[in-house]
Amino acid sequence: MVGAAWSGLDSQLVEPQRTCIGCRQRGDKSGLLRLVWSAAEGAVLVDAAGRLPGRGCYLHPSCAAVALQRRAVGRALKVGVDPEQVALALAELTV
Ligand SMILES: [Zn+2]
Repeated sequence: MVGAAWSGLDSQLVEPQRTCIGCRQRGDKSGLLRLVWSAAEGAVLVDAAGRLPGRGCYLHPSCAAVALQRRAVGRALKVGVDPEQVALALAELTV
């Protein structure tokens, strides 16, 4: 009943789009992984719930290797990240 008012809306308008730092393609936010720089921890965190504060960037899980190779995470977050720490954080999800 309530949903009828929304039936004319394209679902693309509802799903936010983000750019992947690995392949530079835009995609649904829900299909991308959010990475956040935590100044408190001095580390890049994987924001699984999408709720961590701070500067974030988005990445397809399948683009993790490309992003690491290109050091795209540090550039996107504008901080001097430790590539090994980022690799470790990403490795946990790509098992
Ligand atoms: Zn990608």
